[in-house]
Amino acid sequence: MRSQRQDRTVDVAVIGGGIAGASCAYHLAREGLGTVLVERETELGTHSTSRSAATLLPGYGGQENDELTEAGRPFFASSAEGMAEHPLLAPRELLWIYPREPEGANHDLPGTVPIDYEAALAMCPVLRPEAIDAVAWQAGVYDIDVDGLLRALVRGATHHGAEVLLASEAASLRRQRGYWLMEGGAEIRARVVVNAAGAWADELAERSGLAPVGFRALKRTAFVSPVSTGQQDMAMVVSADNSFYFKPDVGGLMLCSPADETPVAPGDPRPEEIDVAYTIDRINVHTTLQIRSVRRAWAGLRVFAADRRPVIRPHQDDATFIWCAGLGGTGVQTAPGAGQRVAEIVQGLFSSDW
Ligand SMILES: Cc1cc2nc3c(=O)[nH]c(=O)nc-3n(C[C@H](O)[C@H](O)[C@H](O)COP(=O)(O)OP(=O)(O)OC[C@H]3O[C@@H](n4cnc5c(N)ncnc54)[C@H](O)[C@@H]3O)c2cc1C
Repeated sequence: MRSQRQDRTVDVAVIGGGIAGASCAYHLAREGLGTVLVERETELGTHSTSRSAATLLPGYGGQENDELTEAGRPFFASSAEGMAEHPLLAPRELLWIYPREPEGANHDLPGTVPIDYEAALAMCPVLRPEAIDAVAWQAGVYDIDVDGLLRALVRGATHHGAEVLLASEAASLRRQRGYWLMEGGAEIRARVVVNAAGAWADELAERSGLAPVGFRALKRTAFVSPVSTGQQDMAMVVSADNSFYFKPDVGGLMLCSPADETPVAPGDPRPEEIDVAYTIDRINVHTTLQIRSVRRAWAGLRVFAADRRPVIRPHQDDATFIWCAGLGGTGVQTAPGAGQRVAEIVQGLFSSDW
């Protein structure tokens, strides 16, 4: 990976080195397209990508997310087409619980199967049945090795000839004689630009003289706490009223979240103590985990278009500017499928008379 200043001419410049951009770079380079991946930070994946709950959860983000997830399954199953050092997915049981207080959780969750307390306690012995109205089990859930996925995508991209530029901000983009001219940390001429800039995708469109989508960045908090009773193979538990979830993490820790969605400006959000305290209280009411302390807390951005559908398509006013953004709360699980979709769109462009 390089960060020095040098001028380049490529087929495609992918802007944004999170999981989405890395997947696009891999799938584009794999198709033989000259590709450069451009990231503003000094490392890849430092924003939303490194802050996720690392779960593949079917049905979570709607039909298009499910289609992208399905499209990426062979990639996951093949350990990133042989580029990952370890399997990228590990099965994880998942239980939806319907809290007794307050009432009103959605009892009609597609893809779930109601189960009795005995079965629920076998998967998650720390649940408190007296605080819970009902439990449903969901199949097909996995832990994702996010870091392993990112590394495999980047390794694969560079193996197929892509270049990765760190500490390189796409400060401005303008059209010049059939190319996009990117100025910033590096000067790049690219036939096509892929906008995988996460929470900054609208800003990048505006820097390119194109209309934004109107994305909203919603902050989500997470933290890990030491627990003495949780086991590594215990089920992940999600409250059906969207007030919290938790899942075992490595080293005797429990990863917990209030499942919050606070609108914020694109940036580097911080967790609020009150959100962490609220989550601990909710989890302690519904379990015997007795969480008392926090090892590490963080917050990250989940980025949505108004209809919460992923935006993977050419810009309406310029087909050479491709969106890969608005991946919401499923951007890791959908990344392999999203990168494939982008590569198909770009290949279509290169094989047409444009
Ligand atoms: C707490 C939390 C839990 C989550 N849990 C899950 C989960 O369990 N499963 C799941 O699938 N998803 C989950 N998500 C969502 C997932 O993390 C995101 O959808 C995904 O990481 C988005 O990836 P991205 O590449 O689009 O964005 P990012 O990772 O934010 O990458 C965008 C990159 O673009 C760069 N950039 C921006 N502008 C420029 C520019 N002008 N020039 C150069 N670089 C630029 C940024 O520096 C950044 O590195 C969770 C998110 C959060 C916050």
